[in-house]
Amino acid sequence: MTERDRAGGVLTVDLDAVRENWRMLEGMVGPTAECAATVKADAYGLGIDRVAPALAGAGCRTFFVAAIDEGIALRRLVPDARIFVLNGPFPGTCRDFLEHRLVPVLNAREQVEAWTTGGCGGEAALHVDTGMNRLGLAEDELASLAATPGALSPILLMSHLACAEDGQSVMNAGQLARFLTARRLLPAVPASLANSSGIFLGPGYHFDMVRPGAALFGVSPRAGQPNPMRQVVRLQGKIVQLRDVDRPMTVGYGATHRVTGRGRVATVAVGYADGFPRSLSNRGCGHVGGVRVPLVGRVSMDLITFDVSEAPPEAVRPGAMIDLIGRENPVDAVADQAGTIGYEILTSLGHRYYRHYVGGAA
Ligand SMILES: *Cc1c(COP(=O)(O)O)cnc(C)c1O
Repeated sequence: MTERDRAGGVLTVDLDAVRENWRMLEGMVGPTAECAATVKADAYGLGIDRVAPALAGAGCRTFFVAAIDEGIALRRLVPDARIFVLNGPFPGTCRDFLEHRLVPVLNAREQVEAWTTGGCGGEAALHVDTGMNRLGLAEDELASLAATPGALSPILLMSHLACAEDGQSVMNAGQLARFLTARRLLPAVPASLANSSGIFLGPGYHFDMVRPGAALFGVSPRAGQPNPMRQVVRLQGKIVQLRDVDRPMTVGYGATHRVTGRGRVATVAVGYADGFPRSLSNRGCGHVGGVRVPLVGRVSMDLITFDVSEAPPEAVRPGAMIDLIGRENPVDAVADQAGTIGYEILTSLGHRYYRHYVGGAA
């Protein structure tokens, strides 16, 4: 018995596709801008221990994570890379940054003061808010900091776009203008504005560095347009049981689905405890034997049920797999059906799946 035999689902991560996606974005922004990689939240749920070395092998030199512990873990994986920590330093964490050569992104006046006066004093990036109103110094705070000689000399000035996936949003040009204004206060400091989607807004948004995350992992960077990225994730769920139905009956908790005619229902060993959203109840679908099979009834903790009446009988038997995320039903489509975004589908991917990595050899 292998781990794969025992698992209720198989998650295949194509590291070559991750690398190809990174190279494509690098080609769009280079040679004037550097293409970093954002690998927070365990590389968007795909496994930072495999993803980060694959990206480093493709030539990525700079990584962004959200949390200090993510940075500490990443340091062991990519000993020579530059690592930025987006959430910045929390009180008492100064030593962790210096010891693991992590560069904090300073997001607020308090973080700047703690970093510069608290005996830390290593390299730091500075985040200026340009309209997201989540993290970053206000423009007047940046102005007073820039006017204080010797206060801080950041190695990167950055901001974050709120609506970049919508190329029509007026927010984008507004944030760009505010970032250009901020940049004039620190003209010698390298600058970074774009996430995945921001890269597709055009060269004016690239500055000296871009910070894609989701697009590396196959999420579409442009809402409502064809996805230029390669699919990275395939999720398959294993059939536990088949049930032939020949009289009207209901399926699952709450009896929310009723089978009326004759049919077959397949029960698959994946559920919301695996990060498969409960909101896909009676809305999701799978693919098996070249046929789309609707998810029927509620998603339960460990199981889901599909109406496989239309699937070729030889493709649906106990132990066979139904595709849950993949070529026919990419992550953005699944997210749509679940009423969320691809980011949340990926970062929710559970840990009971057998994780299978392909490609990525240096
Ligand atoms: C998460 C994040 C990114 C990456 O965003 P994607 O949309 O996944 O490309 C870049 N910059 C900041 C500040 C982030 O928080």
